[in-house]
Amino acid sequence: MSSNEDKPHGVPVPKDASATNSVDHERIQRAVREILLAVGEDPDREGLVETPARVARMYAEMFSGLREDPRRHLKKVFTERYDEIVLVRDIQFQSMCEHHLLPFMGKAHIGYVPAGKVLGLSKLARLVEAISRRPQVQERMTEQIATMMVEELSPKGVAVVVEAEHSCMALRGVRKPGSRCVTSAMKGLFRDNLSTRAEVMHLIYGDRR
Ligand code: ZN
Repeated sequence: MSSNEDKPHGVPVPKDASATNSVDHERIQRAVREILLAVGEDPDREGLVETPARVARMYAEMFSGLREDPRRHLKKVFTERYDEIVLVRDIQFQSMCEHHLLPFMGKAHIGYVPAGKVLGLSKLARLVEAISRRPQVQERMTEQIATMMVEELSPKGVAVVVEAEHSCMALRGVRKPGSRCVTSAMKGLFRDNLSTRAEVMHLIYGDRR
C-alpha cells in the first residue's frame, strides 16, 4: 500500500474489486512452507503437510475486510426524530495485530446521538467486522470507526470504546496474559460535553468500573 491520500484514515478501499477480489492462496502456501523450513521444521512430515493450505484459508478469512469498503454498512439509514444516545455494547471482534501478525480480540462499544439519521443496529457490528478483519492496530481501528460514523451519518456525537487482549503481549515480549488495552475516540457532543460523555461511559460500564 503506497499512498494514503485518497483513502482517508488508512483504510484501503479497493478501486477495482476484481483485482483484489481473491487472496493468493498459493503464494501464502509457499511462504508458510518457507517459514517452516526457516525455523528448522520438515514441512513434508505428516502433521505439517496440510498446514500451508490451512494457514492460507485462515488468512483469507482473517483479512477478508481488506476486500470490502466498511462504509458500505453506513449507507442505509432511516429518518428518525430520536436524539438521545443509541448504544450498541459488547460487539465481539477478532483482529490481527499488524506488528506481529498475532490476533487481538475483544469488544467494541459504539454510541452515537443521531441528528435525524439512524442506522440499523446490526450495521454497527458489520462495520466493526469490516474494519477489524485486516492487519490492524487497536488505536487506528477505534479512530476509524468513529471517523466513518461522523463522515457518513453526521451525528451530534460519536463515542467508540474498544477493549482487547493482545496475544502479542500474552505470548511473547513482556508475556502478560490477561491485561487489556482500552482505547476510545470521542467526537462531537461526547468530546465537548462532559455529562454526555459520563452518561455513555455509564451506559457502557455501569458500575463495573
Ligand atoms: Zn502486536
